[in-house]
Amino acid sequence: MRDTLRQYQRALGLDEVRCTFCLRPFAPQPLAPPMDFLSAEKLCPHCRARLVPRNIRSCRCCALPLEGTQTHICGRCAVDPPPWDAVAVWGLYRAALRDALLRLKFDGELTLAPVLAGCLLQASACLPRPDAILAVPQHPRHLCDRGFNQAHELVRGLQKQGDLPLRPELLQKVRHTPAQAGLTAQDRARNLRGSFAARPDVRGMRLWLVDDVMTTGSTMREACRCLKVAGASSLCVLVVARTPRPEDAPSAPPV
Ligand SMILES: [Zn+2]
Ligand SMILES: [Zn+2]
Repeated sequence: MRDTLRQYQRALGLDEVRCTFCLRPFAPQPLAPPMDFLSAEKLCPHCRARLVPRNIRSCRCCALPLEGTQTHICGRCAVDPPPWDAVAVWGLYRAALRDALLRLKFDGELTLAPVLAGCLLQASACLPRPDAILAVPQHPRHLCDRGFNQAHELVRGLQKQGDLPLRPELLQKVRHTPAQAGLTAQDRARNLRGSFAARPDVRGMRLWLVDDVMTTGSTMREACRCLKVAGASSLCVLVVARTPRPEDAPSAPPV
């Protein structure tokens, strides 16, 4: 009886939903465990396949793709290691993943946040469980302009899906900084110096700091430096995408 009902529903298109990413209708099917984090009821099979990253050799400190004879660590991390203890990244900032992140950030498609949070949760499987998770914060003026912090939207999805404690108040952006695009790594670091403030409660805490995209890593470095100075006992950095080159930085799409 139930099978007959399902056949009728399928024939009439009543069992179809729209894919969050491409908006085409599809009939959700249960997924096997390796894929189940990619929201079977939200993404069509085509978009799920496009969002699964390819395995590439990357730096274990900053997740930048390794070149030539580099084995575990990239050239920069060899001379200037980052202030965090571990990094987890879902994929490279290109193709469908880049598209999804641009739509989340610049078009305000917040329905994509839970999908990308599922990717973050999968990427975080290699990290030790934290005492708290938080997003890289934005300055209140920036937040008023955009209306939301895309990293915080991701962390909210992560909190729900991973049942993790969310403490967004632990780190704040206290100085408004000009856009980073077009600046050298040194200028970015100078631009960000002293722009974050951490609450004293972070002392002794194991934290995950979440962002949507890591470009040069300058923002993450400064945020982590601030948390370390305030006494965080361990810091893991979790980002959806890593830009293979700084020039691929996310900028506002052409209008
Ligand atoms: Zn789709
Ligand atoms: Zn590196």
